[in-house]
Amino acid sequence: MTNKEAIEILPVARLCIKGNPNVVDEEFNRYSEALDKAIEALEKQVPKRLKNMGGWYACPACFKPITNMECDAKYPAHSCGQLVIWEDNNDK
Ligand SMILES: [Zn+2]
Repeated sequence: MTNKEAIEILPVARLCIKGNPNVVDEEFNRYSEALDKAIEALEKQVPKRLKNMGGWYACPACFKPITNMECDAKYPAHSCGQLVIWEDNNDK
């Protein structure tokens, strides 16, 4: 299963939990919060292009300016954890 597939299926899992008569509201809220955190973490593992702000680039997740990211990784991670597509940002 890819991260993208997991991101798509986790909201379905949330609905299954919500529909379970054995899960009280307090439990559901905790499970739902955990699912939100899992989805957020998974989304940061899917590389995204930097946002072109017209003269400068912003992180696609936290929107903080990115001035320089020296990293040998194919998809370097911003300080917030978001993997970014660094090359060919001028193409799109
Ligand atoms: Zn960021």
